[in-house]
Parts: sequence; C-alpha cells; structure tokens
Amino acid sequence: MTTSVAASTTVHHGLAAHEVVLLLGSDPHRGLTDREVAERLTRFGPNTLPAPKGAGLLVRILRQFHNPLIYVLLAAGAITAGLGEYVDSAVIFGVVVINAVVGFIQESKAEAALEGLRSMVRTRAKVVRDGHERIVPSDELVPGDLVLLEAGDKVPADLRLTRLVELRVDESALTGESVPVAKDEVVLPEAIPVADRHNMAYSGTLVTTGGGAGIVVATGAQTELGEIHRLVGAAETLATPLTRKLAGFSRILTVGILALAAATFGVGLWRGQDAVETFTAAIALAVGAIPEGLPAAVTITLAIGVARMARRRAVIRRLPAVETLGGTTVICTDKTGTLTENQMTVRTLWTPGDRYEVTGSGYAPDGTLHDSADAPAPVEADRALRWSLLAGAACNDAALTHEDGRWDVVGDPTEGAMLVVAAKAGLGVDRVAGLLPRLATIPFSSERQYMATLHRDTANGTHVVLAKGGVERVLDLCDAQLDADGTVRPLDRATALREADDLAGRGLRVLATAMRPATGPGENRPDGFGEDSLAGGMVLTGLQAMLDPPRAAATAAVAACRTAGIAVKMITGDHVATATAIAGQVGLLDERAEGAVLTGVELAALRTEDFPEAVNRAAVFARVSPEQKLRLVEALQARGHVVAMTGDGVNDAPALRQAGIGVAMGHSGTEVAKDAADMVLTDDDFATIEAAVEEGRGVFDNLTKFIAWTLPTNIGEGLVILAAIVFGAALPILPTQILWINMTTAVALGLMLAFEPKEASIMTRPPRDPDQPLLTRALVMRILLVSTLLVAGSWWLFQWELANGANLTEARTAAMNVFVVVEAFYLFSCRSLTRSAWRIGLFTNRWIVVGGTVQAVGQLAITYLPVMNTIFGTAPIGGDVWLRVLAVAVAASLVVAVDKRLRRPRS
Ligand code: ADP
Ligand code: MG
Repeated sequence: MTTSVAASTTVHHGLAAHEVVLLLGSDPHRGLTDREVAERLTRFGPNTLPAPKGAGLLVRILRQFHNPLIYVLLAAGAITAGLGEYVDSAVIFGVVVINAVVGFIQESKAEAALEGLRSMVRTRAKVVRDGHERIVPSDELVPGDLVLLEAGDKVPADLRLTRLVELRVDESALTGESVPVAKDEVVLPEAIPVADRHNMAYSGTLVTTGGGAGIVVATGAQTELGEIHRLVGAAETLATPLTRKLAGFSRILTVGILALAAATFGVGLWRGQDAVETFTAAIALAVGAIPEGLPAAVTITLAIGVARMARRRAVIRRLPAVETLGGTTVICTDKTGTLTENQMTVRTLWTPGDRYEVTGSGYAPDGTLHDSADAPAPVEADRALRWSLLAGAACNDAALTHEDGRWDVVGDPTEGAMLVVAAKAGLGVDRVAGLLPRLATIPFSSERQYMATLHRDTANGTHVVLAKGGVERVLDLCDAQLDADGTVRPLDRATALREADDLAGRGLRVLATAMRPATGPGENRPDGFGEDSLAGGMVLTGLQAMLDPPRAAATAAVAACRTAGIAVKMITGDHVATATAIAGQVGLLDERAEGAVLTGVELAALRTEDFPEAVNRAAVFARVSPEQKLRLVEALQARGHVVAMTGDGVNDAPALRQAGIGVAMGHSGTEVAKDAADMVLTDDDFATIEAAVEEGRGVFDNLTKFIAWTLPTNIGEGLVILAAIVFGAALPILPTQILWINMTTAVALGLMLAFEPKEASIMTRPPRDPDQPLLTRALVMRILLVSTLLVAGSWWLFQWELANGANLTEARTAAMNVFVVVEAFYLFSCRSLTRSAWRIGLFTNRWIVVGGTVQAVGQLAITYLPVMNTIFGTAPIGGDVWLRVLAVAVAASLVVAVDKRLRRPRS
C-alpha cells in the first residue's frame, strides 16, 4: 500500500476513526505489517522523547564553581596573587580547577548511570500487527500502529481512538486535570483544546479504567507530550534530602568559617603581627576548615549504592530512595507474585455435587481430572463441571503459548490456570471459542473482584452470561446452583463457603464460577451488558482451587527482615484463609495472635481512633481494596514508620506515591504503578526488597563513615591555625599544604570508604530511627577527639622539630605529614563505626590498599621532589622524623581504639 502518511498537523480528532485509519494507511483489524513498521521506523524515528536538553557544557562546567566555598577559594587565590605570592595563588587556582573537573566528571557519570537505569525499565505497549496481538517496547511504535489499551497502561503515543469500552484516562500529566476523563469515539469539531478531545488518547497519560484501541497518529517529539517536553525541557537534578541538608550545612559552615577567619585576622592585627602573614593565616584557616570533598563523596556514594541495587535487580527510579530504603521500618508486600511464584495450577474442582482432583503441573495442558475413586471426571456428562470449566476458559483474557517445548501464559496467571484445567478436560481454547463466541465483557478489577462475559451459545443459538471471581463476590451474585444432571436448585451458600474455606485453608487460591442463560428481553445485546446484568439470578457452577507455591527465597528474606527489626505485612486481595496459609508458610505469621489477620471488611468497620493501632499490630490484610492501601500507609506513617509498599495495579498508585518507598513490579506491574514507584523490582521477588534495604543501609553507613572520617581533618586544620595566631606562633602548616591534604586525602583515602563492603551486622540491628540526626552524639565526640589528637600531635611534633634543630620548612613538612598519616590510620578505624579495625581484617577492602599506596607515593613526592618543595613550601626530612610521625599516628590510633572500645554497645 502506498499511502502518504499524514503529517502530524492533521486534525485527527476532527475525522471519523475509519478516515484516520485510511489516512495513515493502516488496517482497523490487522494493524500494520512488519514491513511497513520497519519502513516507518526509519522514516519517523523511534517513539522516544529527545533527551532533555540539560544545561549546555559551559553552563555545567561553570556550575561547578557556583558554591560558596569555591568563592572563598577564588577570593583567596586572587588576594594571594595581589600580595605577590604567585606560587600560592597558582596552587589555590589549581585546586579550584581540579575540584571543578572532578565534580563535573562525577556529575556526568552519575547522571549517565541514572539514565541507564531508567532505560532498564522500558515501557511496553500491546499492538496488533499482521493481525496478531503482540507486546512491543513502546519506543518501536510508528504512526499507523494499532494499539490496544487496558486499565493500568500508560498511553504510549498519541492515539485516535477507534474502539473503546468505559475508557477513562488520567490526563493530569498533560492538562493538570486530576479527575480521569471519559473517552468517546465521536467526531469532534476541529477547533477545540486538547483537554476536550475525547476521541484521542495522548502519550504519557494513564488508563485508569476500561479499555480500547486506537491508531497511532503521532510518536516521539511529535506528540503533545513532546511539545510540552520541548517547552519545559528541565533536566532532573541529583539532589536528595541528604545532599540538600548537607548543602545547607556547608552554607552555614562557610559563613561561620569566614567569621572565624575575620576574627583571627583581627586578633592577629591587634596583637601587632605582620598584616600579610596574618592574612595568609586567615585564608589558611578558611580553606582548611571547609570540607571540599564532601558533596562529591555523597553523590558518588549514592550512585554506587544505586548500581549495587541494580545488580541485585532493584532499579531505583529516584535517587533519594537509596537513603530512605536504609531507614525502612515496615515492608507492606503483595502476596501473589511477590511472596509466591505466581505460577498457578488448578488442583481441585468442586461442584455442588462432586469434588475432582487434577493432575499435572505448570501450564502444560497434560493431566487428567478424576474423582475421589480415581475414576475419570465425566466432563461431558456433569453439567455443573462442564459449565464451571467453560466459565473459567471463556470468561478469560489470557492465552497459552507453546514455544520450544515450554508452555507459558500471556496475561494473568490465574486465568492461565483456568485455561489449562479446561484444556486438560478436553475443552481447549479453540473448542471453547467455537462453542461460546464472546459478545461483551465486564473486565476483572481488584475492586470488583470478578469478571463476567456475554456469549452466544452455538449449541442451541441462545445466549449465556458467564462469571468468575472471588468466592464471596460471586456467591453474592448467585441465588441458585447447578447439579450434575443440569437441575437448577436454590443456592446452598453455607456449603459452598465451607468448601471454599477448606480449600483456601490449604493455601490454595479459590475462584468461584457461575453462569446464567441470557433469555430476558434485549439481554443478548452487547451494548446493554453491564454490572446490572449480573445483579442476582446467577447460578453457581463450582469452585476452582489453584496452587501458587511460595517463592523459594521468600521465607529466608522474611526472616532476614524480622532479624533486621523490619516488620513485614502482607496485603492481598485474596481470600483470608489463603492469605493466612501462605503467610504461615513464609513465616510471616507465627501463631495466630489476636488481631494478626484483618480483612478489608474488618478494616472498614474499625473506628478511626483504633485504626492505626490495629494496623500496626496486624501482619496479614486480606480482601483489601486498593483504596484501603493508602489508608494503611498513612496509618503506619502516623505511627512514625518508614514504609515500603508494593503495588501492581492502577489503583495502587496513590499508595505507592504516599509510601516512603513505593515498589512496583517489573514483570507483572502496570505501567501506571511503575510510573508512581520509587523502585522497580525487575524480578518481582520479595527477596529483592530485602536486598535493596540491605544495600540502602550500607550506603547510609558508608556516608556516615566518610563524614566521620573527613571532618576531623578540617576541624584540626582550622584549630591549628587558630592556635598559632592566638599564641603568636609560626604556622605549623601553610595554606597550600592544607589544600594538598584536603584534596589528596579526600580522593585517595576517603572515597575508598564508598567501596567498603557491607558489615556483617547490617541486617541484625534495628532500623535507623528516622528522626536520628546524621551524626550521633557518640560520633560527634569521636570527631572532636580525633580533631584534638590531630592538633596536639602536629603541634607537638612541629615544636619538637624546631626545638631540636630543624628549620621552619622541615618542621612544617613533619606537621603536614602528621595530618596525612594520622588520617590514613584513622581511615581503618572508620571502616566500621563500632567494630575494631583488627576485627574487620586490614585488607578486606582492596581499594583502601590501592588508595593508601597512592597517598604514600604522593607524600614522598611532596616531601622529596624539588618542584613540589618549591610549590608547597616543604623540605626533605630524615628517617628519624618519619619515625616520630609514625609514633604520633600510632599513639593517636590507640586512643581512638580505646575510645571505640569503651563506647561499643554491649551485645
Ligand atoms: P492479589 O492480592 O492476590 O493479587 P487480586 O486483587 O489480584 O489479589 O485478586 C483478588 C481476588 O479476585 C482473588 O482472590 C480472586 O478471587 C479474584 N481474581 C483474581 N484474578 C481474577 C481474574 N482474572 N478474574 C476473576 N477474578 C479474579
Ligand atoms: Mg493480583
């Protein structure tokens, strides 16, 4: 077909659906052919938005200088140059440039890493091509593609709707309107705003209910979303609550330091010291006390955490989540698919007259149905059994696939299981479709808890309504039941419920099936088919009970969480007995403690004031509606919890957003849920959440360690200068030397802490208190202790060297080396905040060895290389001086070790 695919300026909403199909050279039923798709893909490009045009290169480089502490350095460099100290000035400017380059590289790397992760969670779309339904990555859509939509989908491109059922779309991403908009197929006048084009569905909006189909009229940058994107085009920042807190902290710090430096200068002048020298000292104090490496270290540590989590199949979508994860106190998890395999197999079929067992496992339709006496089930004779199987197979949107000898299900595993059991009984998909062509559908939703369909019964030309769903809901629709011989009797609700409880108590998921001949006036008309058609009058045909085994790793992961002081709660739409049984199997429910299991009905009946306490106590929530999830999160948060909550459906989005960590499923989750989530599990496995929490704790630990390690240097340097001025003594270390210490140790030593392996105890201690400040009192004391040791050690050695014949330059070189060597020793202590350095093993973090070696080479260079001597005002020192430097470092380490020992929490 050679059709000119219309330009995107065409007003598609002003045309009838078939005209749009024609215009775009598509087919309303078969969609495009693969050849056309390939050809259009080269012509129109992929369906992706151009990467947000972040700030330009120059701006991004300049931004590295936009920082109060860099201003201080720049001013210091300029003034030093003005005083004629060109070498010092060059060093200061050099440091500023190196800082900017490192910052720029790190920022770009972290951004690229996050971008890469984002593409790991690719949006998928369901299309019809060559007459077959297919799931394709959204970026492969082209104009003319026939796209199918259902609740939970993210609209993947701009579509002219061609067919729809109760379709409602949340267009807030586009129009800001948060109430979902009802869609319609009618032709509209051309001159109406986007928000009123009800026959269109726009890229990036979310299908909240119903379903439909549409023809792609625009992709990528041509979509309405692309237009907005172009206008806004904001790149995401790497800021997190922690980095923001630190930025605030360093602003205050800068002001404080400047004030102190000014005061120092004032004191020096007042004491009649040389103005230039005092000024240099004040600058030294300022540059020394500023922790230059801190912001970069935080970003890098977070980025490493994100990468580690991704390796363990947890994809972080928002950087702050890494921090929050470490503080998680409650995990609210789904049952189906997260704690269980989501591999459903129907094991038992109950009909009002009989009970049948099913053999075979997995989705292969190999197996038999037999009664308690091992006789084959009379599928054709037992009317109830037959109608139950038919309801299960015909009122069903799933499909079975058979590839490379492996049977699998496309769609809902629950429905897959029902297809399989019907096939085992000789009612394969094709046969069922021939017997009962479908005319209309009420789709399954978690609120409704059932699905119903209207069919023509080709055997006798009548019509029939079929339904399947949660037992209580389906029984509510029924007032009769079917016998094996086809007799319709009044419903024996009690027996059916007892049977369902018994099956569910074994951990099986139970669905009820029902049917009703549609013989009333107009009942066979598809457009009249809705929930009203179901109200009462249905005939119960049976129960189907399916096994969904717990995941192998779930039990261990639940246990690990509990050891880590994290409560695990199951939230499910399933039957209370099934939920309780599975919860018991994965060790989430010890013995049936009072109030440990709550149903949605019980939750709804709770008084508002009792709600938080009841929720806090319970471990299993069954038959919960998605709306109740949001209330659950809020109640737990009101109790001070940091909540991680999983969700997969459209209606879970509010709860996912509210939770500290919203977790969506990569496999089974809807696009809407993934969109709202902070983290996506690519394997849907509960154990992955536990792994992510563990990594989150590790990240937080490493950040704390870095801060505990880096601050003493800055405080110590500041104090040493202050002391020199106050006592009117010569400076033990010079500004350029301070810069050297700060820059080299932060990169070569401090950063290596980010690679520190997680401590073994990481999942045996309780979660961090969300209100606890970054630095505990004990840690602040340790930081002050180490600062004091640095001042005392360097001051003492400096004076000792001077008193014993060294010149000023040599004494300074010794003092500078004291700082570096003490910091290097202290690094080993900081590898664990509680355990002694010896216990972790000296060489368990190879990076520290590498960094230590680099630093050692650097120290030798600055001490012995003539160029470096000139630049940094250092001089070669003898072996005996080194021994004294080491002695100071050893002494300091001993003091720190004793302090650590004394403060160690007894266990
Ligand atoms: P879960 O938390 O186990 O994922 P759901 O909300 O998916 O719970 O399902 C709740 C109940 O709805 C199930 O116990 C089952 O009885 C019923 N149900 C689930 N899937 C379907 C379906 N595809 N068609 C009809 N009923 C279903
Ligand atoms: Mg489900």
